[in-house]
Amino acid sequence: MATSEPVWAVAGERTVTCDHCGQGWFWSRHVVMSSSTATMFGVDAFSPEAAVLSCTSCGRLALFEPRALQLFTSTS
Ligand SMILES: [Zn+2]
Repeated sequence: MATSEPVWAVAGERTVTCDHCGQGWFWSRHVVMSSSTATMFGVDAFSPEAAVLSCTSCGRLALFEPRALQLFTSTS
């Protein structure tokens, strides 16, 4: 689910905005965490898959459960 263009995202019926700079465009990556990485993030109980949103402006990363996230591009 890697995208070559910026996306905006909705999670829990709220548009995701960057924690740091407040804007709403992200690069999206889908990652599968190793069990040690899952332990590091404290998410052992959840799926090892995660959706990573990287702010296009400041680079802040946000981590979501893939099933909880809807992604939109400027063309969709
Ligand atoms: Zn940002």
